Amino acid sequence: MGDIASSMPVMVASENGRRGMLAAMALLREGGSALDAVELACRIVEDDPDDHSVGYSGLPNALGEVELDASIMEGTMLRAGAVAAVQGYGRAITLARRVMEETPHVLVVARGAERLAAELGETPQEQRTEESLRRWRERFAERELTPGDAEPLRSVARALTRPINLQDKLHKAGRVDTLGTVNFIARDRRGALASAVSTSGLGWKYPGRVGDSPLIGAGNYCDDRYGAAACTGMGELAIRVATARSLVLYLKFGMSLAAAGREALRDLLTLDAPDGQYMNIVALTPAGEVAGFTTVPGKRYLYQRGDGRASPG
Ligand code: ASP
Repeated sequence: MGDIASSMPVMVASENGRRGMLAAMALLREGGSALDAVELACRIVEDDPDDHSVGYSGLPNALGEVELDASIMEGTMLRAGAVAAVQGYGRAITLARRVMEETPHVLVVARGAERLAAELGETPQEQRTEESLRRWRERFAERELTPGDAEPLRSVARALTRPINLQDKLHKAGRVDTLGTVNFIARDRRGALASAVSTSGLGWKYPGRVGDSPLIGAGNYCDDRYGAAACTGMGELAIRVATARSLVLYLKFGMSLAAAGREALRDLLTLDAPDGQYMNIVALTPAGEVAGFTTVPGKRYLYQRGDGRASPG
């Protein structure tokens, strides 16, 4: 794809981002900022009770608690905000933005993030739903375990997540396309970029486990000069090779988007990833080129332009 007129908004998202992208594109067309657009898009997916990988009704950890991770970054000043392992508050992306705008920090976790949410007047909300707890109980039954067993929790979490629940949850739900962390990257009419990532993380994880999504550089990175990238998949992989920042750095060094994505995949493929662990990346350049990259075949992504051109990738 060649350069897209710099005044035309462009968005790229992971495949579960359709509803969020439609609303956010309307905002971009009206001249809204990329930062507002990616936050709005994420919030829509976070609030969706049918998406069990993000926000409200996300998959619980090994103790049956929903812990949310999110990050947001703007590419003009390279400001970023993130929260991790937050319980009892939805809209983790808004909290991440408030970390960026209202604290001197980039990442605030767990009790601190919950305290901050309360201090900022965010509304507490139970994130578990009957459906997410049903899935949690079923997982124990499938693995012939019982919640509260005397076994060390690390063994329980290992058994629950083995071989890799990101794959299994896709198979079991039979709806590969609606599951996974949500990623949005936008370019607004002024040419500014912003990126947002939100997730309930790896289902059945050990409490306090943090994936790539709230880690700037691993699951999310954005720089108006070179481009932006965001990830879904097994966060431990993207953390180890700093996938999002690497892709943007490859762009900085002059690679095409296709070559930069291939190089980021090559980094991931050098890891000793157990079978079933995968990683997907979406990316957007300042010129408005979009692309998706994946270590497994068959993954898709979404993009939409201000002139109405839209596509699954
Ligand atoms: N990347 C997320 C994590 O590892 C999970 C996902 O994308 O589904 O927490």
